[in-house]
Amino acid sequence: MALNLAADVLTLKTKHPFVIARGGDDETRVVWVRLSDGDGLEGWGEADPSRYYGETADTVLATLKRLEPHLPTDPFDLDASEAKFAQVVPKNGAARAALSAALHDLVGKRLDQPVWRLWGLDPARAPRSSFTIGLDTAEKMRQKVLEASSYPILKIKLGTERDEAILRTVRDATDKPLRVDANAGWTRERALQMLPVLKEYGVEFVEQPLRPDDLEGLAALRRCGILPIVGDESCLVAADIPRLSGIVDGINIKLAKCGSLREALRMIATARAHGMLVMVGCMIETSLGITAAAHFTPLVDAADLDGAALTANDPFTGATIAGGQIRLPTGPGLGVRRRSDHAGNG
Ligand code: MG
Repeated sequence: MALNLAADVLTLKTKHPFVIARGGDDETRVVWVRLSDGDGLEGWGEADPSRYYGETADTVLATLKRLEPHLPTDPFDLDASEAKFAQVVPKNGAARAALSAALHDLVGKRLDQPVWRLWGLDPARAPRSSFTIGLDTAEKMRQKVLEASSYPILKIKLGTERDEAILRTVRDATDKPLRVDANAGWTRERALQMLPVLKEYGVEFVEQPLRPDDLEGLAALRRCGILPIVGDESCLVAADIPRLSGIVDGINIKLAKCGSLREALRMIATARAHGMLVMVGCMIETSLGITAAAHFTPLVDAADLDGAALTANDPFTGATIAGGQIRLPTGPGLGVRRRSDHAGNG
């Protein structure tokens, strides 16, 4: 029997306006996708579109319409389905990732097993997640650091004129390990100036210091050997990884970029083959989107899966990062359920 597709836009509110080097907002529209098999089972997935990669909730809905005729009759037909989706809409990673997650959810529910178990993974190997402190006034940033007291690792968004002051504010408020994401906001000169400062402030690694296409600059920063460099905007899919080998120390995987759970696994294998660090990140998402990525975290070194924890109206429960430790659900498929109080405050 053919799978039936339903898609609903959910408007997420963040607890604070979420601002990074490119700007920010306090509302995010994501798309909840459901595939029903006519036998009473439903697979769920979420599209978390990013304007930076050319997607919005509206383009996701339009893309889903285009992909609907290409849904498999058998949800176990994962490899061919994902390949077909990528052939029909080569970009649109967030939209494709929602269908991929929904198919994996359905397969797990048919077999009555969690997805991590189908992959043979040990949930105890999931790393801790960092929690992101978005750009704000010094006073608000101090307040956010206090609110994040239960998270053992903080991530700071930099790439501004006042980076040193921001670092100092956060460092004065906490002695936790810090990670920095410049979101492509630095020039080579600025990055060379900032790396020793980050090192001095006890930063563990820095994400995307330079423009995504400035591979020469990234390689030069890596050669300084001051801090590990992780490529995020420079690395969308597995095929991007070989040319980043020797240029950056690690990569950041996001489902909204790579477009499918199987591609995420290919990225992990490719990065490992090149001896690179593997990190998994997210957008502002509900626990449904976060949980799809959480299932492969037993394979990664570092995680930044705070997207749902930053929201004020998460409609779902699934993987959690309470106390910073990622805990995978044990229910079948993705193991995500609707919150009993729909307006719950994740
Ligand atoms: Mg990043």
